[in-house]
Amino acid sequence: MSKKIYELIIIGAGPAGITAAVYAARKKLDFLIISKDIGGQAAWSGDIENYTGYQFISGPELTLKFNEHISAFGIDVIMPEQAKGIEKQEKLIKVVSDKSLYLANAVIVATGKRPRMLNVEGELEFKNKGVTYCAICDGPLFRNKPVAVIGGGNSALDAVLQMMKISPKVYLININAGLSADSIMKEKVKQADNVEILHNAVVERISGAAFVEAIDVKQNDARKHLNVAGVFVEIGLVPKSDFAGILARKEKQEIVVDCFNKTNVEGIFASGDVTNVPEKQIIIACGEGAKACLSACSYLSTHWI
Ligand SMILES: Cc1cc2nc3c(=O)[nH]c(=O)nc-3n(C[C@H](O)[C@H](O)[C@H](O)COP(=O)(O)OP(=O)(O)OC[C@H]3O[C@@H](n4cnc5c(N)ncnc54)[C@H](O)[C@@H]3O)c2cc1C
Repeated sequence: MSKKIYELIIIGAGPAGITAAVYAARKKLDFLIISKDIGGQAAWSGDIENYTGYQFISGPELTLKFNEHISAFGIDVIMPEQAKGIEKQEKLIKVVSDKSLYLANAVIVATGKRPRMLNVEGELEFKNKGVTYCAICDGPLFRNKPVAVIGGGNSALDAVLQMMKISPKVYLININAGLSADSIMKEKVKQADNVEILHNAVVERISGAAFVEAIDVKQNDARKHLNVAGVFVEIGLVPKSDFAGILARKEKQEIVVDCFNKTNVEGIFASGDVTNVPEKQIIIACGEGAKACLSACSYLSTHWI
């Protein structure tokens, strides 16, 4: 156990946590940032066209820029390390991780979201053996192989846009009658002749031997057996807030914050996709991370002089 008491601990190094860390460094706080990785979901994005200052940048390139930015401030992210719990001890806050235990005067939770699972037969058995939740990470493994993307929103179409360039056949399995992704993405996908969209369709089973070989799909009342080597599950995300049980959360498990990023527990702030702030975007998460750090600074200066 570390006996040191930090002024601030930031949990998570996605856009929200990284931005909070840059602000903390500029305020010369004695702080720590722990995370499972750097970049978070931003690292999984294919084409980013809505982060001001870059007309186009890929997720991995933006992550590299984040890394350069924090390195310039001498910030070391402690990773891979996973927060397992947060407790309040009088005024102090205890953060328990899978490796250690830390104490701080203030904490910012910026743990974002994780992919939602499909929960069908074969999903767990073939996880990392053809079933994947990150097209940008695993897409190249399926070059020249037929794949299925499950979903109908921006993440699913992001995966289709990536895979249609390298796969001979991409099935898009959409549970609804229409796609909910941005129009610009829908247009690009509709123009591709190697993409087949199955609306009103659900995956019932993923099968194979050592690796995925096929999926069974029910579309309206018909059943189809599609031969695919990869299954990209892109059906939404769940906030990673389960370790923060002391914080008030909404039904969807989003941490409730006010406009100063304060949670219901004094000294604990939250920012980005893990919160109930509307719209989940990189630029919004960055702004929220900045705001959370400034609120934490204000709290530290008034409560911990
Ligand atoms: C495929 C895809 C494409 C996208 N494309 C775009 C786009 O083009 N433009 C756009 O604006 N937005 C896009 N988004 C959304 C955007 O990536 C998110 O809104 C943004 O990354 C949220 O930032 P965040 O820091 O709140 O959370 P995240 O990016 O989820 O980062 C959370 C961080 O916390 C860490 N973490 C999680 N749990 C723990 C724990 N218990 N202990 C320690 N660390 C933990 C994670 O490892 C990660 O580093 C996309 C998302 C996806 C999935």
